[in-house]
Amino acid sequence: MLSCPRCKEFDYHRSHAKTDYERLRKIIFKQRKYRCHSCGYVGWEKSRSLDKRSVLKTVFLYATVILIAMLVGILSRSFLM
Ligand SMILES: [Zn+2]
Repeated sequence: MLSCPRCKEFDYHRSHAKTDYERLRKIIFKQRKYRCHSCGYVGWEKSRSLDKRSVLKTVFLYATVILIAMLVGILSRSFLM
């Protein structure tokens, strides 16, 4: 059980990722959002050292985004000519 960093109550629980930023942060940095039900404090789990699998996942994610951007660029250029 975790205690709240602000009020030290043990009412500090994991919170669901609600925004795209929070979901992305959760996927890439493996961080989870926490919320205290006593004082309303919201914090993030301290960053864990990235393991090999999550590094590969992050590299794959960026490579996919770059590849899609390149394909869209090439396709849009060939359709315009
Ligand atoms: Zn608190």
